[in-house]
Parts: sequence; structure tokens; C-alpha cells
Amino acid sequence: RVKDSGRNSFGFYQPQMNANLLPRIKMEHDLHRALELGQLRLHYQPQLSLRTNRIVGVEALIRWHDPERGNVPPGEFIPLAEESGSIVPIGAWVLQEAVGQAARWLRQGMPVPVSVNVSALQFRQSDFVDTVAVAIAMAELPPELLELELTESILIQDANEVLERLRLLAQLGVRLSIDDFGTGYSSLAYLKRFPIHKLKIDQSFVRGLPGDAGDSAIVSAIVSIGRALRMDVIAEGVETEVQRDALVALGCSRFQGFLCAPGLPAAEFERMLRAMQRGHDQQQ
Ligand code: C2E
Ligand code: MG
Ligand code: MG
Ligand code: MG
Repeated sequence: RVKDSGRNSFGFYQPQMNANLLPRIKMEHDLHRALELGQLRLHYQPQLSLRTNRIVGVEALIRWHDPERGNVPPGEFIPLAEESGSIVPIGAWVLQEAVGQAARWLRQGMPVPVSVNVSALQFRQSDFVDTVAVAIAMAELPPELLELELTESILIQDANEVLERLRLLAQLGVRLSIDDFGTGYSSLAYLKRFPIHKLKIDQSFVRGLPGDAGDSAIVSAIVSIGRALRMDVIAEGVETEVQRDALVALGCSRFQGFLCAPGLPAAEFERMLRAMQRGHDQQQ
């Protein structure tokens, strides 16, 4: 990582630098162009309640299909966009697109809360709260149908400023969740101070269920924290039925993962939503 090498290395000649830098600059350039040409897409991954067997939410996940590179995973281009700053306009686009989609589903009689990932740099922008407020106002989306997924790296920055911003967002009526919970370096203290509605158990703690005693203990601890602080808890990355059953046994009744579906194009997710709605209507 070029940026991580920091100031101390400035002025030293690093032979591998040019070799790494050029493709990165080109990728960053292509990504920015993809945004401008409207070539970025969102996929939607359902979140399920095991208690009701219903879709209780959906996470918007960005997708970039580059003509030369094919599908580039977000894990590759999001860090790059964070370093270059282009995550700010990209993030604004994601927000607008996801909010607009949620509003269309609502108007079609399918109110489903949409979660949007927020990067640290995006959150730090002084106009971030305005961007959110404008997006939901323009789409006429009830704010409680938007959830912002924050990472612990956001929450460990200047605590007072973060708290102020989270309060403004909560006052708007949007919901706030902590993504990849348990993998960051933050203390638990912020949980009682910050207006957080939901914890997302990172998939690394789900992987080893039910056999891994450590994973079970961590999941059960997060469920207890959520219950005590009145926060929803959802598990990410659930791939198998045994993992799902283990989660239920540990008290976690919401999940997201390939067991139900991966991120789907909007039209496909919509079909799933309709089919589930019909199924439930017939049961009643
Ligand atoms: P995340 O927010 O934690 O999203 C969950 C990731 O896990 C997604 O990967 C999803 O496709 C994947 N996943 C879901 N279920 C399963 C499963 O059962 N098994 C496995 N192995 N994986 C599963 P994806 O879409 O590649 O995104 C990776 C990360 O990129 C996201 O992690 C998030 O941090 C970031 N990202 C994605 N979209 C956006 C965006 O619009 N804005 C920002 N700032 N970051 C984004
Ligand atoms: Mg997420
Ligand atoms: Mg996550
Ligand atoms: Mg993640």
C-alpha cells in the first residue's frame, strides 16, 4: 500500500513502487470513469428473520463490471477509492440509488428497509448528514427505511464529533448499524453512548459454527450485548443450515448469507420479495 508507507519513507527509492502505482492509478481512473458513465450497479442481499421467515431488510452492495477486468470485487476497488477520495462521490451515488430503489419498492407496496455501507472518509465529510437528508427527502422515503452501516473504524475517530453526527442522523430518523462487529479495535464504551440500532456479527465468527467454541462464545456474547442494549443483532455470511441452526440456538434470529441468497440484481431481489409475499398471503 503506497499510502500506508507513510511520510517516513518519502524520498526513498522503492523499485516496486512504480510497478504497483501505475496499475492502481489506471484502475482508480477507470473506476471514476465508470461512475461518470453510470456503469456502477447495486446488488441487493436479503436479510431474513428466522422467527417469521420473512425478509426484514436488504443490503445494497456495489458492483463494478469493467470491460477489461471483468467483475472487480469491492474488496479490491473500495480501498482504492478510499485512498483517492473518489469514495465520496461513489458513496453519494450509492446512497441516492439505494434510497431511490427503496422508495420505488415502497410505492409498489413492498416496504423493505435498505442498508447502505458508509466508508470512514464519506462519514467524515462535513456535509455527510446533509447528503443523507437530501437523498431521503428527494426520494420521499420514510427515514426509518434507510439504515447506514458504519464500521468500527468510523466510531473510533474523534468521539465528540462522531457522537454529534450520529445524533443528527438518528434525529433524521435513519437507523444506524455497526458492520463487521467485533473485528475492529474500538472499546465497548461507545455502544452505550452512541445511538446504534443494530449489530452485524462479522462472518468470521459465523464460519466456525457450530463446532468452534470460541466462535460460539463470541456470537452468544454479542447477542447478549444486543439484548441488554436493545439493539437488533444479525449474523452475516451464513452459508449452511447447521450455521443457521447454531445461530438460532445462540439466540440470534436474523441472518444474511448465501444460504438464503447472494447479492442480487434489483429485479431478481424484487421477484424474491413478491414470491415471499404471495407465499405468506396464501398461508393467511
Ligand atoms: P460487508 O458490508 O461486510 O458486506 C458483506 C460481504 O459479504 C459482501 O461482499 C457479500 O457479498 C459477502 N457475503 C454475503 N453473504 C455471504 C456468505 O454467505 N458467504 C460469503 N463468503 N460472503 C458473503 P462484497 O459485496 O464483495 O463486499 C465486500 C465489502 O465491500 C463489504 O463488506 C463492504 O465493506 C464493501 N462494500 C460493498 N459495497 C459497498 C458500498 O456501496 N460502499 C462502501 N463504502 N463499501 C461497500
Ligand atoms: Mg455491510
Ligand atoms: Mg460486514
Ligand atoms: Mg466486511
